[in-house]
Parts: sequence; C-alpha cells; structure tokens
Amino acid sequence: LWSQVLERLQLELSRPTFETWIKTANAERLENNCLVIITPNPFARNWLQKYYINTIAHVVHDILGYPVEIYITVAKGEEFEEISGGGAWESSTKDSIAESLNHNRQTNTELNAKYVFSRFVVGANNRMAHAASLAVAESPGREFNPLFLCGGVGLGKTHLMQAIAHYRWEICPDSKIFYVSTEQFTNHLITAIRNDSMQNFREHYRAADVLLVDDIQFIEGKEYTQEEFFHTFNTLHEAGKQVVIASDRPPNQIPSLQERLCSRFSMGLIADIQAPDLETRMAILQKKSEYENIRLPRDVIEYIATNFTSNIRELEGALTRALAYISIWGLPMNVANIAPILVMPTEKIEATPEAIFKVITDNFDISIEDLKSNSRRREISWARQIGMYLMRQHTDLSFPRIGEEFGGKDHTTVLYSCDKIAQLRESDRGLSQTLRQLSDRIKMNSRSQK
Ligand code: ADP
Ligand code: MG
Repeated sequence: LWSQVLERLQLELSRPTFETWIKTANAERLENNCLVIITPNPFARNWLQKYYINTIAHVVHDILGYPVEIYITVAKGEEFEEISGGGAWESSTKDSIAESLNHNRQTNTELNAKYVFSRFVVGANNRMAHAASLAVAESPGREFNPLFLCGGVGLGKTHLMQAIAHYRWEICPDSKIFYVSTEQFTNHLITAIRNDSMQNFREHYRAADVLLVDDIQFIEGKEYTQEEFFHTFNTLHEAGKQVVIASDRPPNQIPSLQERLCSRFSMGLIADIQAPDLETRMAILQKKSEYENIRLPRDVIEYIATNFTSNIRELEGALTRALAYISIWGLPMNVANIAPILVMPTEKIEATPEAIFKVITDNFDISIEDLKSNSRRREISWARQIGMYLMRQHTDLSFPRIGEEFGGKDHTTVLYSCDKIAQLRESDRGLSQTLRQLSDRIKMNSRSQK
C-alpha cells in the first residue's frame, strides 16, 4: 500500500516537497482503519502533520476505497527536541492532578527556553505589549494588573508570556510562577472535581505570585471554568499578585464570557499585538538566523519576509524549511533555490473553477472555449496545462473532476499536466514567477468575492 501511496503522492506534490518530507517517511501499519506513518524526526512529523496529512489521507482513501485515519509519529529514539515550542504543555495535559499540583519551577522548565525577551524583536506592532510585559516581569502586581495580551495567531503572545516567566525567575528564583493554557486549567479543574481535591486545586492556583493563562478565548462556553477562574483571579488580584492573560481577541469579543470576567479582564491594561511590518519581519529572520549561526543573504531575507506576512510562526517555519532544504540538497542559499520549497501548501485557498478560468483567459488572452476545447495549438495547450495545475492547487477538486471542468479531459491528462508544470516550476524561474502572479490574482479575486 505504502509504495502505491508514494507513487501517487509523487505525482501530486512537487519534487522537493516529496523528496524532503514524504520519501523519508514510512508506513508502519494499517489497522482498524488507521494508518500509522513513521517520520525520521519531530520536525518532519510536524511538517507532515501540518501540511500534508490531508493530501495523504485523500490519496489513501482513493487507493483503498474507504477513508482511514492517519496518525503521524516519530521513529523510536528520535523523539528528542521539539523544534516548535509549546508542545510540551499539550502532552502534559493528561498528567494526574497530583503531578500537576506539583507544578513548580521544575515542571515549568517545560517552558520553551527560546521564549525570552532577548530573542523577541520589538517593532511598532508589538511595542506596547513588549513594554508592558517587561514592566510586569520587573515588578509584578504593580502597574498593569491584569495584563491582557491580545493578538492573532502566531504573533508572539505565548513568547511574551513565557519571557515574563523566565525573566522573573532570573531575578527571583523562588517566586511561584504558573504558566498554564486555559485548556490545562480546565483539565486540572475537571480532575480536581473528579478526585474530590478542589481544596488542593484552589490552594495551588491561589498561591501563585504570577499566574499566566494562555489562550483564554477557549474559556468560551465553559461555565464552570469561568466560575472557578473568577475566584482564582479575585483572590490573586486582591493579594496584589500578578495575572497575565493572553487571547486571540479582546475580552469583549469572547462569546459568552461572563460579564464580570470581562470587566475584570479589562481592568488592567489591554495590550494588543498587530501583524509585523516588513522591517520587523526582516529583523526577526535576521535575529533567528544569527542565533542559528547562519548568514543569510539579504535578498533571501527579503524574499521570505515579503512572502510570509501575517503570522510569525509561519515566517519562522518558512526559514526553517528553507534551511532544511538547502542543507539536505547541499545547495547554495539563494532565492532561486529556496523559492520552490516555499510555495506553501497553506496558500491553498478555495477558489472556484470560474475564478481560475478568468485569470487564465485574461492572462493568456485566449477564450474559455479554446481552453475547454481539444485544440493542440501550443499556446492553448500551454495555458490549459497551467490552468489545470492551478486548479489542482487552489481547489479540492480531484483529477477526474478537473478533467471535467476542462471540457471532459481524461484524468491522466490532468495528472500529466500538473506533474509537468510542477517539474518545470522548479527549474524555470520565469515560470515560477508567472505561476506565483497568477496564484496571487486567483487569491485576490476569490477573496474579493467572499
Ligand atoms: P501566539 O502565542 O501569539 O500564537 P507565539 O508566541 O507562539 O504566538 O509566537 C509564534 C512564533 O513566533 C514563536 O516561535 C515566537 O518565538 C515567534 N515570535 C513571535 N513574535 C516574535 C518577535 N517579536 N520576535 C521574535 N520572534 C517572535
Ligand atoms: Mg500562543
């Protein structure tokens, strides 16, 4: 089965993607409609999980004729060192309450060591959040209590919160600092209720010097957690202890948040973090590469920074991915070499076939009838191949369905076209650029339609 899957994936994905991420993985077993895939390292695991799991599931479904669940794991002995941060906490959510209640400095070492102030790049987008975090770390419980950090995904909220914890310990190693996700807080609470250990639970959280609660938006709809958190909050606040909360939106936009919590959250400082501007994004890449001891050409930094704009996690991911690719293939670091691997699968945004036809016919100045015809004229079949490739990229349509859209072509024709364009794209910079422009136009048109 796996070799069949590989064969198919090879056709559907670009070569660098395939060689880098797919070929190195292996299927372990298929059991109870569940396929376990083994990757050589945590990085590959995260990558497959994030970008390719759907494609793989899709292909396996096609081959077997029924859907299976896909699990991606790391080969035994290779589980060390998570590259992306924060994961440690997720895995500890199942810990028993007894262990959890021991959350002290020891378990908190699970914090990401890289999330410190010195590694945080300050820009216009996060200046206030940074300054407030620093102030809180220096003298907790004074000025901004609670400090409410809010901003979109991947903009540095967790980084700042953990930086507060690290900094605080540096100056005051004995202080009790708890960093928890809202989910963890909820899980602790549930376990405490079950084990009849509410007393412990309350004593634990109410003993904090600094309580940092991440992703509070997930408290939505959790009445009991809200209730309990309200009391925890009050106890700490009255005792002059610092509370820091992070959320992807301001308190008044969290649905079904109790009024009294909303007003508590708004009583200190609400500091928001915006998407970083180009200069800040470049500085972030610069700093990260310095920490990794890599010298990046300026145009590479510019290229990545211009293409990944709204999420710093993705920006960093792009850099990591480029570095991995360059070193696996032993290539010189330049824009031409990294461009193909940075064509992000996440760029896929839903577009209609019509939107794609429009962009293609406009760009190549041919009619839609020609596009759907059987004409073999060079410029027409070229436009058609590009159209098929883009439709595959921007829609969820299968090869046969794309064939239908193009006037009833066989699915092997579609497959062949997509593969050809994907291959050419890697070697032909002009084509790669054209495709990117067309993609942008498709995305723009589809966005404005929504
Ligand atoms: P959030 O919690 O807001 O979703 P994170 O704090 O997890 O975002 O940040 C995502 C990634 O981006 C992390 O690896 C973090 O180190 C990095 N990051 C975010 N903001 C900055 C910044 N200003 N300087 C350096 N790295 C940053
Ligand atoms: Mg976060």
